[in-house]
Amino acid sequence: MTKDQPRVLVVEDEPALAEGLAEALGFQGYDVDVADDGERGLDLAMRRGYDVMLLDVMLPRLDGFEVLRRLRAAGRTVPTILLTAKGAEEDRVRGLETGADDYVTKPFALRELVARVAAQIRRTRRERHEGDVFEADGMRFDLGRLVVQKDGEEIVLTPREGEIIAYLRSKQGNVVTREAFLLDVWRYPTATVETRTVDNTLAALRRKIEGSAEPRLILTVRGKGYRWGGG
Ligand code: CA
Repeated sequence: MTKDQPRVLVVEDEPALAEGLAEALGFQGYDVDVADDGERGLDLAMRRGYDVMLLDVMLPRLDGFEVLRRLRAAGRTVPTILLTAKGAEEDRVRGLETGADDYVTKPFALRELVARVAAQIRRTRRERHEGDVFEADGMRFDLGRLVVQKDGEEIVLTPREGEIIAYLRSKQGNVVTREAFLLDVWRYPTATVETRTVDNTLAALRRKIEGSAEPRLILTVRGKGYRWGGG
C-alpha cells in the first residue's frame, strides 16, 4: 500500500452495501474505513482526515444529518456525499443545507458512486489551490493546475506535491516538522510517525523542481524539519 492514496470514510449500517462500497473503492486504490453507525462515523471523521466521506442518512445511534451537523459545527470540512433513500427529496435538500457536497439516491450503481467520489476529490483539490500562482527562484508555480514552469519547460506535480508546496509556503519561512506534514498533508492519525515517508517525498520533489543545484526553495532545517526558502 502506498501512502499517496486518497482516504474515504464510509458510514453505512447495511453490511452488504458497506462491504460492496469498501471493495469497489479499495479496488480504485482508495484507503477505506467503514463505520456502521453514526456515532462511530462521527468519531472517525473528527479524529482522522479523509478526502471524502460517504454518509448514509438512516443510521443507528446518530443519523446522517446529525453527524454532518456536528462535523460542520466543529469546523470540519470533509467533502461529504449523502446516501439518500429513493423518493426522499426533502432529505436531499436538508442534506445540502446541512453542508453535504453531493448526494446519490439508493439504489445506485457502484460505478456512479465511484465516479462521484473521484469527482469530489478532484474538485476539492482544485478548489484548494485554484489561483495559487506565484514565482519563486525563477520558476512559475501554478498549484491549481499542478505545473511548474522552469527554463521554458513544464514540470508536472502530483496532487500531493502541490499540497506540500502550498503548505510549506503558507508557513512563511517558518519550520514545518515532519509530524506536521504527516498530519496536515498526508492526513495521518496523530499516533502514526513515519517520518521517512516525508523525507523521501520531499527529497524527490526537490530533485524534480530544483535539480541537482543547491536547494533554494525546499530547505532542510537540521533536526527540525523543512522550510520554504522562496519568500
Ligand atoms: Ca441505513
